Amino acid sequence: MPFRSGYVAIVGRPNSGKSTLVNALVGRKVAIVSPRPQTTRNRIHGIVNRANAQLVLIDTPGLHKPDSALNRQMMQEAAGALDGVDILSLMVDASEEPGPGDRFALDWMRRFRGTSFLLLNKIDRIPKALLLPLIDSYSRQHDFAEVFPISALTGDGLVPLVENWIARLPQNPPYFPTDQFTDQPERFLAAELIREKAILATREEVPYALAVLIERFEETERLIRIHATLSVERDGQKGILIGKGGAMLKRIGTAARLEIEHLLGTKVYLELFVKVHPNWRQNPALVRQLDWHRQLAQMSAHELPGNDEP
Ligand code: GDP
Ligand code: MG
Repeated sequence: MPFRSGYVAIVGRPNSGKSTLVNALVGRKVAIVSPRPQTTRNRIHGIVNRANAQLVLIDTPGLHKPDSALNRQMMQEAAGALDGVDILSLMVDASEEPGPGDRFALDWMRRFRGTSFLLLNKIDRIPKALLLPLIDSYSRQHDFAEVFPISALTGDGLVPLVENWIARLPQNPPYFPTDQFTDQPERFLAAELIREKAILATREEVPYALAVLIERFEETERLIRIHATLSVERDGQKGILIGKGGAMLKRIGTAARLEIEHLLGTKVYLELFVKVHPNWRQNPALVRQLDWHRQLAQMSAHELPGNDEP
């Protein structure tokens, strides 16, 4: 059987059950860091490995917030946010009235050229008779390839959903080592925690321009040594991140280190560097290098046997 793999984005308004679904599918609670929902980039939520397939489940923050001018602007800028996504899945809470958040996500679906699914979640909460009209109403608004009534909570409908996702993915080798990510999310989480602390500590344009790359992740008996680069687009942003006499970077580093230590249960030596990559978000090669899921792919590649760090 050919191996299939690809990116499945799950969008939908807050509380529709996206995290619950991802945790159910990954088979354990994925530690999810939640930075401010104000970045156009994709975030990996979990990787589902099967004998014949690998599904990379991602969230695309900003696709489900209709309520600010900022996000409206982002929606125009972020035409590329769905690049690389194989299947876009809209998750709807079937037990709630459709709201602006659902409509906003629908607008996004229309911009997407690939396969789109509709997931009607929380069917454990509603009488079956309500499903058909709901399916009907959504189908009139968008041409969904498949509609799945599911319950992320009870597991109802999840098996056929996953089978269908897999059937529609391209034939690809796995993007990530099929065992490593689920066993070793440390690098990924460390970078995400650093990014979160930097976002929380800064304002305005810095969070958007920021990418965190783990350059080094060395485990010794006593501690883990992490070198990370924070890339921004302009000297001004670099200045903000570093702060007066390095105070800001120090604060970010301390906050991140404490959480990473807590997460990994070991001492961490964390060193942060700030680099300027002018307009990296406009540069496809740099986006590949710096952006989230690609970054993880690269790190995973480094971990393959015979490819040790110098
Ligand atoms: P997210 O904001 O889209 O990630 O939503 P969450 O996964 O955090 O879920 C929001 C709430 O809905 C939580 O209280 C979940 O327990 C609940 N929930 C999620 N899926 C289901 C479901 O299928 N049935 C029911 N009854 N509750 C669900
Ligand atoms: Mg969530």
